[in-house]
Amino acid sequence: MKAFQFVTATSPERARDLLGNNGRFLGGGIDLLGEMKEYIAQPDTLVDVKAVPDLHRIDQTDKSWSIGANVTVAELEDHPDLKSVFPGLQQAAAEVGSRQIRNVATLGGNLAQHSRCWYYRQRDVHCLKKGGDMCYARHGDNRYHSLFTGTTCISPVVSNLAIALAALNAAVVVQRGPNNLARMSIADLYARAWENPISQNSLDPGDLILRVELPVQNRRSAYLQVSDKSAFDWALVSCASAGGIQGGKLHQARVVLGAIANVPYQVQAANQFLEGKTLDEDNANKAADLMLQGAEPLSDNAYKLPIARALIRRTLLQLKA
Ligand SMILES: Cc1cc2nc3c(=O)[nH]c(=O)nc-3n(C[C@H](O)[C@H](O)[C@H](O)COP(=O)(O)OP(=O)(O)OC[C@H]3O[C@@H](n4cnc5c(N)ncnc54)[C@H](O)[C@@H]3O)c2cc1C
Ligand code: SF4
Repeated sequence: MKAFQFVTATSPERARDLLGNNGRFLGGGIDLLGEMKEYIAQPDTLVDVKAVPDLHRIDQTDKSWSIGANVTVAELEDHPDLKSVFPGLQQAAAEVGSRQIRNVATLGGNLAQHSRCWYYRQRDVHCLKKGGDMCYARHGDNRYHSLFTGTTCISPVVSNLAIALAALNAAVVVQRGPNNLARMSIADLYARAWENPISQNSLDPGDLILRVELPVQNRRSAYLQVSDKSAFDWALVSCASAGGIQGGKLHQARVVLGAIANVPYQVQAANQFLEGKTLDEDNANKAADLMLQGAEPLSDNAYKLPIARALIRRTLLQLKA
């Protein structure tokens, strides 16, 4: 690991000032320190943001919740009310890595975590994401890679929380400069990764995630994933669904897939199809057809298609319960 300066920020403005030309924000360090140990990230300065006031708070009203960027994944998992108001988010948090990881990993760090592509994580491989000229996964071992991509990089988003938050119509509040707060949907937060192989998300250097805001909705939510291992592992495929049920019919349904695209993957036609439909196996299967249309399986990842189909159906049917 390259030598670096370690500084602690006590306000969002100070955090941005302290970054300098080659600094990185430090949340729990689970992802960033791994990249630094492999010389994939080589910042001159680490700006610890965990002492920034208010970023560890969860504030809830009848209308909305605000969850600070420093709230740990374990705090989301354990929150006494989260499970009843946003069960999909609680389920997504409970599936992250292991309890030790969840105790340390923060919401902001989970959303901004970098690619898990094993070529990217090799220090000596200079792929497109590192500014090189080829994607090694495309014609290599791509069993964990995307079925849908808008660009030449096929590394998928693997943040559990992003998938659940996308289904819940969350907004991410980002400090973009002095007196410049941006409010991004989860789709906005990852849009750049769809277009640019180097980008993992739409954050610019110095953009600090402050909090996530969630409208309280008369909607249910569910999250499921399938992984190789039962713990300490990322999802092969994940899925979050949310929707209200009135008079036996679905309204405002959202289905989002994870680990199969370089953004949390939604298909407007599937969401629209579900509007006003009875929630049953048949309609859930039709929504899955619409979501998976146009998938481009690679040499080693076609197995993700039936898993995605099953997870779409199961998360949707869980909304009935
Ligand atoms: C074995 C293992 C299994 C895992 N399994 C899963 C899993 O199943 N699902 C899953 O979702 N994750 C999984 N993870 C990833 C883990 O959840 C993330 O590494 C972790 O959430 C990162 O959070 P952190 O606070 O440690 O971030 P850090 O490592 O501190 O930071 C990660 C990135 O986010 C940036 N950052 C941190 N805070 C902010 C902020 N407030 N604003 C802007 N940028 C910020 C940092 O600069 C850095 O670029 C796993 C990790 C391991 C090691
Ligand atoms: S999938 Fe993306 S991160 Fe992986 S080798 Fe290809 S360009 Fe690099």
